Amino acid sequence: MLRYFRKKKIYPQMNIHEYQGKSILKSFGVRIQEGIVADTPEQAVEAAKQLQAETGTGWWVVKAQIHAGGRGKGGGVKLAKSLDDVKSLSEQIIGMQLITPQTGPQGKKVNKVLIAQDVYYPGESKTSEFYMSVLLDRAKGRNIIMYSTEGGMDIEEVAEHTPEKIFKEEIDPKVGLQGFQARKIAFNLGLSGDAHKDMVKFVAALYKAYEATDSSMFEINPVLKTSDNKILAVDAKVNLDENALYRHADIAAMRDESEEDPTEVEAGKSSLNYVKLDGNVGCMVNGAGLAMATMDIIKLAGGEPANFLDVGGTASAKTVEAAFHIILKDPNVKAILINIFGGIVRCDRVAQGVIDAYQNIGNIPVPIIVRLQGTNAVEAKKLIDESGLKVYSAIQLKDAAELVTKVLA
Ligand code: GDP
Ligand code: MN
Repeated sequence: MLRYFRKKKIYPQMNIHEYQGKSILKSFGVRIQEGIVADTPEQAVEAAKQLQAETGTGWWVVKAQIHAGGRGKGGGVKLAKSLDDVKSLSEQIIGMQLITPQTGPQGKKVNKVLIAQDVYYPGESKTSEFYMSVLLDRAKGRNIIMYSTEGGMDIEEVAEHTPEKIFKEEIDPKVGLQGFQARKIAFNLGLSGDAHKDMVKFVAALYKAYEATDSSMFEINPVLKTSDNKILAVDAKVNLDENALYRHADIAAMRDESEEDPTEVEAGKSSLNYVKLDGNVGCMVNGAGLAMATMDIIKLAGGEPANFLDVGGTASAKTVEAAFHIILKDPNVKAILINIFGGIVRCDRVAQGVIDAYQNIGNIPVPIIVRLQGTNAVEAKKLIDESGLKVYSAIQLKDAAELVTKVLA
């Protein structure tokens, strides 16, 4: 959980599609496998014709655009050797529920395909696939370029079975990526001649794209050496730092909310930090640390948290109401535990907020346990107890946990 929490919330990230990542790369001079995105099979055929006119390609790859990797394994990347193939493969892929090792068992619906030029022609024997990513190494506080000759495969597997095949190059923030580092990378990948020169350019442009966009990760798997010794990006997985998006309106506009959890999107609009989980006790807490502790308490009491929800420092009636709406969308929720520490915010005001929100929403079908501690906690408990609503109050966390156990029984 902590790992997930860190990944998603303390360092919030935005993901984009492969075709969008490639357009960013191209704008920084990184050579890419060219492609055109399509929403329908008819558009896909037009895209294929246009690519043929622009690049001379006679074969194409039809690539499902979803926010998850491993698409090839799941049947979301297919080679088309004719325009008829482009049409029938697009018909097959658009609208499919694509299941990959990264989507979970329910898969993800494909709304768009990228029609890309075939870059492996005239045969895979003369091509090589590498792995390369640029990311922030948080322990070192530096950007690193991670790369390997074992491209195209699951990098986690390479890391597990043959870790010696993964190289890392640390970038000194004072001076940036140095020429000798790019040359070392090309050398370690076994390249010479034109391919070596092209890789040096590729690495420099990739690093520039990563830095200039405030990304937290650019992962290119595979990086391809074509049969005529050109280096290009076949795939692009990009994570952007959400906190820096205000500086990149063009990239922020690439957000595809249909790829994100709808409840999390709605929570974001009310400035609530919400992560859906699989349990039965909804929780509403002020402060991320207290929210984590509350989840532990719920587990100790024999329940399972249905969500992580931090309503922020100032839990007003409005935020409490928005939080109720979001928690109640989850049909698994059998009880709600509200745990507020009144430091800056006074407990009696939060209590009034809970009462107001409850009355505005009308009939809330599950029991609510409110634990308020801190400034004016006693007044707050009195307000709740006298409200006549189906709300249980507690001041001690232990009492709140016992109440959870009782209402779930
Ligand atoms: P991922 O499975 O989601 O990582 O999607 P990729 O974009 O990495 O594509 C998966 C695999 O499809 C690659 O590893 C390649 O082996 C293959 N592939 C991608 N582009 C081409 C192409 O132009 N021609 C051929 N023959 N295969 C390709
Ligand atoms: Mn890939």
